Amino acid sequence: MHADHFIDLIPLRYALRYGPKRRARKLPVYLPPGGLAALKTLCSAFAPEGGEFLSDVFTLQEYDPSRTLAIEGSTLRFAHTAHYIPAFAIRWEHRGASLTYSADTAPDERVVALARGSDVFLCEATLLAGEVEPGMRGHSTARDAAEMARAAGVRHLILTHYGEESTARDLDEAARSVYDGEIVVADDHRRVDL
Ligand SMILES: [Zn+2]
Repeated sequence: MHADHFIDLIPLRYALRYGPKRRARKLPVYLPPGGLAALKTLCSAFAPEGGEFLSDVFTLQEYDPSRTLAIEGSTLRFAHTAHYIPAFAIRWEHRGASLTYSADTAPDERVVALARGSDVFLCEATLLAGEVEPGMRGHSTARDAAEMARAAGVRHLILTHYGEESTARDLDEAARSVYDGEIVVADDHRRVDL
C-alpha cells in the first residue's frame, strides 16, 4: 500500500466512470489487509463519501495473504516480502503457466520460495548497482533480483520498478553476470507471452 503501487486507481476511476472505455461490470480490485481503510482515508481528503468514491466503478475487497485466492480460473498465492511496510509477493498460475511478482522487496528467501520454478519472475530492481540503503533494507538491485531468479530456478526474469538513472543496458548486464536465463527489462506496453 505504498502510493506508487496504487494511486493510479484515482485517475483510473475517472477513466472508467467518464472515459471511452466505460464498463458494464465493475472492475474487481484485490487489496492487501488494511487496504480498504487506507483507500478510504485517502479518498476522504477530496470526496466526502470516502471509500464510496471508488466503489462506483470498482469492487474493492481484501485478500487473506495466508490463503490461496481463486480468480476466474487462476490461482494466486502470496508471500511476505522484506519491505518497510507489510508487502506481498504474488504467484499467479493459470493453465500450467506461472508468473511470480516480487512486489517491493530486499532479497528474501520467502520470495524465492514462492517464485520457485515459475515461468516468469517479475522482480523489482530499484537500487543502482552498489547502492546501499541506510538502515532497514526494503529494495533490491538488478543483481539481487537475478540472484533470486537463479535461486528460484525461474526461466525468465523481467526487471521492473527501476529508477530513472538505471539504463536498460546496465540492468541487463548486472543481471546477466549472475543469471543465465532470459532477461527482459520491463517498459511500457511491453508484452510477454507465457
Ligand atoms: Zn514501490
